[in-house]
Formats: sequence, C-alpha cells, structure tokens
Amino acid sequence: MRVLNFNPGPAALPLPALERARDELLDFAGTGMSVMEHSHRGKDYDAVHTEAILLMRELYGVPDSHEVLFMTGGASQQFAQVPLSFLKPGESADYVVTGAWSQKAFQEGERTARFVGASVRVAADTGVGEGKARSYTRAAGPGEIEADPNAAYLHFTTNETIHGVQFGIDPRRPFPSSKAPLVVDMSSDFLWRKLDVSAFDLVYAGAQKNLGPSGVTLVIASKAFVARGREDLPKILQYRTNASERSLYNTPPTFAIYLVRNVLAWVKSVGGLEEIERLNREKAALLYDCLDRSPEFFRCPVAKDSRSVMNVVFRLPTEALEADLVARAKASGMVGIKGHRSVGGLRVSLYNAIPLDAVEALVALLQAFAKQHG
Ligand code: PMP
Repeated sequence: MRVLNFNPGPAALPLPALERARDELLDFAGTGMSVMEHSHRGKDYDAVHTEAILLMRELYGVPDSHEVLFMTGGASQQFAQVPLSFLKPGESADYVVTGAWSQKAFQEGERTARFVGASVRVAADTGVGEGKARSYTRAAGPGEIEADPNAAYLHFTTNETIHGVQFGIDPRRPFPSSKAPLVVDMSSDFLWRKLDVSAFDLVYAGAQKNLGPSGVTLVIASKAFVARGREDLPKILQYRTNASERSLYNTPPTFAIYLVRNVLAWVKSVGGLEEIERLNREKAALLYDCLDRSPEFFRCPVAKDSRSVMNVVFRLPTEALEADLVARAKASGMVGIKGHRSVGGLRVSLYNAIPLDAVEALVALLQAFAKQHG
C-alpha cells in the first residue's frame, strides 16, 4: 500500500508517471527491453530525450533564446559550476542569503572564487542570530539588497526547502537595484506555477522534488549567458558543451530523464501549469489556514509574505508533542513531516504530486491532534 508521502526530496512522484514506468519497465515501446537498456544514441531513447525537452519548453514557454539542459551532480554541483564558469579572475558575484541553501551556495561560491582568483559577496542576508542558532524566516525585499554594480551575476534561491521561506518573485526584475545577470536556484519550487523563466539568465534545479527522481539536474539558461562562460575549463564543466550536444555529450542519466518525461507529460495531462498552480495554492492555503486557526498550538515561524507554498514549516508547543505527532501521522499512513535535523520542528512538503485529499487527510489529523493536546 502506498503512503501519503510529504517528504522534502526525494519526494512523492505523480502516481500516473510511476505507473507508466512500471507498465513500460520490461518492454519499452515494443522494443523488448527497458528504456535503461537502450543506447543513449539510439532513436528510441532519443525520442524520450527530445520529448522531455520539448515538454519543458511548452509548459514553461521557454523561448529559443534559452537552452534547456539536463545535467548531473545535483544543485550542489551548480553551486560550484556557476562561479567556475562565470567568474573571471578579479571579478565578483553577489549572493542573496535567505536560508540554509543559499548560504551553502554562497559558501561554495566563496571556495570556488578563491580557486579562480575572484570573489563573492553577500548582497543581502535575512538571517537572525549567530552560528548554529541563526534562523531564517523571510525572503529579502526588492529594495533590501546592496548590489555591486559590477557583479558578474546575482544569485538567489527562490524557495528555501529547510526554512520554508519562498520569494514571491517578480521575474521581470526581482531586485531593481541590481543590473547583474540573474542566477537562480529553483530546486524546490521549479515548475510549481506558470513563470517566465526566460526572465532569468540561468535557472537550475535538482529534479527530485517537482520534476522526477534524483540524478538529473535541470538547467534553463540564456544562450548569451552560456556563451559568456569560460572556455578554458575542462569540456565537461562548460555549459556550452551540454548546450551544443543537446545534453548528450556523455551518457546522460537516461532513466531519470525518462521519468522527468513521464512527470512532464502528467503535468500537461492535468491542465498544465495554470492548473498545477491553482492546486498548489489551494493545498497550501488549506494547511496554513488550519495552522493559523490554532495559534496557541501551532506556530509558523515564517513571515506571512514569505511562507512557502512547497514546504510548510511549523512548531508545536513542545518537542515531545512534535515527536508524538510524527508518530501519530505515521500510524495513519502519512510520512515525511519531520523538520530538517538542523532546525527541528515539523515540515510538510506539498509538491505538485501531492493530491488535495492527502492534505485534507493531514489537516484532519492536525485538527484532532490540536484538540486532544491543545
Ligand atoms: N538547493 C535547494 C533549494 C535544495 O532544496 C537542495 C536539496 N534539498 C539543494 C540545493 C541541493 O540539491 P542536491 O542534493 O541535488 O545537490
């Protein structure tokens, strides 16, 4: 029996996408073998690869000015590959820090910049407190950043998976004071709504939340920005290699890309990103309303205008009650609601594959739990 899976990532995948994989596993498209066993240069796999790219272009409306790339190494590799490619000696890049992941991106940027003979700087940091106790409860406002007019790029993270902090971004220009190219980590809120991704110069996202299994990383990057990347790097570390070879320079993670294809086909079949966004907003509103109705029992640390639609973070009056709720949920077939070990508390991830009735079931459990213990 399948559980209601609120994991933060790897996360629940749409059932139809998994069923399709199950049905095609041993004999893909009548070829007598699984898609995993096909050559990445053969026409059968190529059809899947091409379809995945075209579906991504169609759903997001990605124009010809931008590449859609499949890469590996997760978002973590992008933390290094971005500065390696786009920071020349003596240059500097700006980072907006709004939680654990953008902080990690900055730290890796620092290491890489040192290696390159360049530098990175924090353009805004919304954290409060020091060291391990530093907490993040809000996104940065558009006027809040101190932009370096000469920055090689400006990096930010649209959704902080651990802290539950999300930008309500205006993609046309989220930070008016910066003129730098925009590089965005969208790992945990990629594809949750209609968005003009071409407003950004480079978007990256590990697939394992809204898009598919781990093992493949989506990159959408402007051709002009890719062309600006350093040309003296090993080929495998240059974005232009992936771009010119349609992400087939070396053997790509074919099965992961196949599953991304299945997930994208599912998104299209349910009505595309407008419908996905409507559902996501409804799910998040249902859960936040439930929490807000019992403020003496549930506490959401995140500022209202920065509350994540994807990762809902909250606390109960005691850690013992939190552990009790996790156990109660598990006994009711709901898993994945424990907060990240670095921050504690509870975190419910409401990615695209989570159906409304799963959230309704969780809300019923939360209400009963609050009534019993509140
Ligand atoms: N950025 C964000 C926002 C994330 O949520 C994660 C993973 N949870 C990462 C980066 C790191 O991704 P990966 O494990 O794919 O390297």
